[in-house]
Amino acid sequence: MVVSSSFSRPRTPALRLRRLLSRPGFYLFATGLLMVLGFVLAHRLSERSGREQLSALSTERLELYASNLAAELGRHASLPSLLAIDPTLQALILSPQDAERRRLASQMLARVNVRAGTHQIFVADAQGQVLSASEGLTPPARLPEALAQGRSHFFAADPGTGSTDFYLLHPLRQANRPVGVIVVRFNLAPLEATWVDLGLRSQGERILVADDQDVVIMSSVQAWKYAVLDHADPSRRQALQASARYPQAIGPDLDLPVTLEVHQGQQVQLPLPGISASRPMLAQQRQLVPLGLRLVALSDLTEVRQRAQLAAWGGAAFGASIGLLALYLSSRRRALRQLFKAQTDLQQTHAQLEQLVDSRTAELRQTNDALKSQIAQRLQTEGELLQASKLAVLGQMSAGLSHEVNQPLTALRALARNSIRLLESGRQDAVAANLQIMDDMVERMSQITRQLKSFARKADEQVTGAVPLLDCVRNALLLLEHRSRALDLQADITVPAGLRVRAEANRLEQVLVNLFGNAIDAMQNEPERLLQVQTVSLDAGRRVLVKVQDSGAGVSDEQLQHLFEPFFTTKPAGEGLGLGLVISAKIVHEFGGTLRAERLQHGMSFEFDLAVDRIAPHGQAEPALPLEGAERARGGPALFGEHQDV
Ligand code: ADP
Repeated sequence: MVVSSSFSRPRTPALRLRRLLSRPGFYLFATGLLMVLGFVLAHRLSERSGREQLSALSTERLELYASNLAAELGRHASLPSLLAIDPTLQALILSPQDAERRRLASQMLARVNVRAGTHQIFVADAQGQVLSASEGLTPPARLPEALAQGRSHFFAADPGTGSTDFYLLHPLRQANRPVGVIVVRFNLAPLEATWVDLGLRSQGERILVADDQDVVIMSSVQAWKYAVLDHADPSRRQALQASARYPQAIGPDLDLPVTLEVHQGQQVQLPLPGISASRPMLAQQRQLVPLGLRLVALSDLTEVRQRAQLAAWGGAAFGASIGLLALYLSSRRRALRQLFKAQTDLQQTHAQLEQLVDSRTAELRQTNDALKSQIAQRLQTEGELLQASKLAVLGQMSAGLSHEVNQPLTALRALARNSIRLLESGRQDAVAANLQIMDDMVERMSQITRQLKSFARKADEQVTGAVPLLDCVRNALLLLEHRSRALDLQADITVPAGLRVRAEANRLEQVLVNLFGNAIDAMQNEPERLLQVQTVSLDAGRRVLVKVQDSGAGVSDEQLQHLFEPFFTTKPAGEGLGLGLVISAKIVHEFGGTLRAERLQHGMSFEFDLAVDRIAPHGQAEPALPLEGAERARGGPALFGEHQDV
């Protein structure tokens, strides 16, 4: 059953949080969020602080303007009351129609006007008719209204100059009855001019003064002059126009909120002359209660907004950097964790590998030990096999020997009996001839015994001997003589007579006996039976290749592969051990050569190389056997026959 890991792990909130914190996507999302937050927060904060700063500055300025205006207007506030006690004017009031008194009063007023720096001073009767003035003038249209209302001041426009003037009034009484009024006129144009100048120089700040009708009577922006602060419907606009308080037509509505906060200010949108779009402005007002005026300061918020936008981008960048920093730290932490894990894995793998190597080494050591013991066993077995092979050869030889010895023994018995009879008949010469034959036969038998003895002798360890190759070949053939003769074998031996090889004679003969024996076996059922022994000089005469070829049945390709394997034999049970070639190859190997087998078209070829000890001075290959070649061997008594002359 497959159980997924999501089921196997409990999902606690802490685990969930940790998994969330390990995801890069989370940090990217958080970065985006922080950017937006930073943007909004920085914008808000910057805008608020900008507005506060602007508001504070504007409030200060507003106070300054207000005090300026109040100071300007209040500078001569006591002048009318001082004039009221002047005897000249007192006299005029007593007889207002007296021309002389009017003239004197006018002279006095002209002097005071110049000295005080006011615009005009005049005295009017209770109906507003000018009695005496600092200069010739037309009283303002609002004067009768102001007198009727008992006002101490009023603003009125001068249609001639287009400026707004301030009028200060002081009633003249007689017996507690108003008989006239002293009017001092101030021109506010210079003050307004400084504001206009200020407005031109400062792009960010505008100032305006509205009267009790909410109509702008002074402004640093000329276009706003005589505009309505808030909103005037047509009837109000008409009434204002008809009031004759303003020298020109009532301007457009400024749409400022009627209730403006004094200090906090309020954001408004105002169209500025020369600028198509209306601009955001901070509006603050200051009441000049005694004068019934309102002073409004308008500060441009564009710069504050621009700064807020910059700060917002800064905040967004800050938020982004915090998010990215967190992402970097998390990635770094993850990378470090992975690195640590990889290191741990590597160490584990290393430890496992070391364990594996240790166990493999131990296994190899065991295998090595087993191999060593196997090799030792094999060597022992080989030694035993060698001995067994020798015994097998000995068995073969003893079989041949008994066969070969029986014949001469029978002949010897016959010759001995024959000789007795010849002695009895006195045929001494015939007896002598018989004895000669008997001697030859005994010599032949002792020769065979010698071979047997030399074969049975244990081989020397050191291959130091210089062995005559031809003698070995002869001896080997001699040992197999009984078999070759029975098969009518043809032998062709071409070996240089003086050729000596570095070998051990017994063992070399053992090899040759084995090869010849195999060849004889293979040729047993063949019509043609030819055994060839040849030598080929190798390595500039330092080595010699001995070739043993037969015309036997040969072996198949498959069998060829197994010839040198122990116990490989094609011979019937009891005849072949399958050890001959193995042992022969080993012996040749000990002599420093290699035994090889090759298939011929008819038969087999075995060859092995040996180191040459020396070659007889005549150096010619001599006919190997005194059998005078194959012809003599064929069908004849062969090596052990009475014609043997080896
Ligand atoms: P054995 O003679 O006891 O069988 P050997 O090792 O001498 O053992 O030979 C192994 C086998 O090689 C033989 O059984 C035979 O089949 C094959 N063989 C060896 N020499 C020859 C040869 N000259 N011609 C054909 N077969 C051969």
